Amino acid sequence: MSRVWNFSPGPAALPEDVLRQAAAEMLDWHGAGMSVMEMSHRGKEFTSIIEQAEADLRELLAIPDNFHVLFMQGGAIAENAIVPLNLLGGKKTADYVVSGSWTVKSFKEAQRYCTPHLAAGALGGPFLAVPPAPTFRFSADPAYVFICSNETIDGVEYAGMPDLAALGRPDVPLVADVSSHILSRPLDWSRLGLAFGGAQKNVGPAGLTLVIVRDDLLDRASPLCPSAFEFKTVAAHRSMYNTPPTYAIYIAGLVFQWLKRQGGVAAIEAANIAKARLLYDYIDASGFYENHVQPEYRSRMNAPFFLKDETLNDSFLTEARAAGLAQLKGHKSVGGMRASLYNAMPIEGVAALVDFMKEFSRRHG
Ligand SMILES: *Cc1c(COP(=O)(O)O)cnc(C)c1O
Repeated sequence: MSRVWNFSPGPAALPEDVLRQAAAEMLDWHGAGMSVMEMSHRGKEFTSIIEQAEADLRELLAIPDNFHVLFMQGGAIAENAIVPLNLLGGKKTADYVVSGSWTVKSFKEAQRYCTPHLAAGALGGPFLAVPPAPTFRFSADPAYVFICSNETIDGVEYAGMPDLAALGRPDVPLVADVSSHILSRPLDWSRLGLAFGGAQKNVGPAGLTLVIVRDDLLDRASPLCPSAFEFKTVAAHRSMYNTPPTYAIYIAGLVFQWLKRQGGVAAIEAANIAKARLLYDYIDASGFYENHVQPEYRSRMNAPFFLKDETLNDSFLTEARAAGLAQLKGHKSVGGMRASLYNAMPIEGVAALVDFMKEFSRRHG
C-alpha cells in the first residue's frame, strides 16, 4: 500500500492515524460487537461518541456555553437556504459580503427567500482580496450579515472576523461559512452569531455539516423551514431530531481527538502558517509559478497557482501524480492549479510539493 500526498480541496485528506483507528474499530467498536455504522443513534454507545465529539469541539474552538453545536446534514450549500429560513425572522433583507465563488452562490440562493443586499464585493471575479470591513455598506435593517471567511475556490481568506459592533451594527448577527478553514485557526465568538461548515474539508467525511449558533438566534425561523433543518428543533433534540450522519460524526470525533494530540488549534495554526509560507514563498520567488491573490488575503488552506506557461499544465499534473502528488488541478472557474493544505497535510507533504515544483521548473524552464 502506498498513500499519496493528497492536495484535494474536498473531500480531502484525513489524518492517517484517524483512518487506522477507524479501520481497527470497523468491525467491533470498543467491544460493542458491531461497527459504529450499525448502532442505534439513540443507544448509549453512540450517545457517548456524539457527546465526546461535541465536548472536544467545544474545547478546541473555545465555544461559549450560549452557543449550540448542531450536527446536521445537507452540506454548506444547503446552509445557504437553511440560514435565511432560520434567521430572516420576517425581515426582507440580509447583507452579503461577496468575496469569492462561494459567496456568489450564497447570495443567489438567498434571493429565493429575501432580497439580499450586496454590502461589499462583486458578483463576478477574479476574486483576489477580501473587501475590507470599513468598505461594507449595510442596508437599513438586515436580518444578518453573511460572509465566507475562507473562499476555497479563489484562495482568499479573512485574517479575522469583521467586528460589526465597531462598524455600528452591534445587534446584527454575523454569519460565516467556515467550511474550508474551521479548526485551522481560532474563531472569535464575540463577533459571530453563527458559523457553519461542511465536514469534508477539515473535519471528516462528507455528509456532516457543523452549525454553531448563538442561543438567541433560535427563535426567528420561518414557518416554512423544514423541521429537520430548523435550528431550534435540532438543538432541542441534541442533533437527534432525525437520524444524524452517525459514522461521519464518529470520524469527526476521531479527528478532534487527533487535533488535541497535535496540541490543539493554536499548535495546528502555527503549523498551517509554516506550511502556507513554505509554498507561497517558493511560488513568489520561482519566476515560473504565480499566485494572484493580494498577499495579505492569501488563504492558508487553499493556494491556487498558475504556471506562467500554461501549455505545461497537463504535463505538470501528470508528472506530479507520478511523483505521488495528487488532486492538484485548479477549480474549472479559476484554472491553473490549487494545493489545499488542510490540517491533515503535514509540512513534509508541502515540502514534497515544493521540491517537485522546483524540479519541474528546472526541467521545463
Ligand atoms: C466546499 C464548500 C461549500 C460546499 O459544500 P457542500 O458540502 O458541497 O454543500 C460551500 N462553501 C465553502 C466555503 C466550501 O468550501
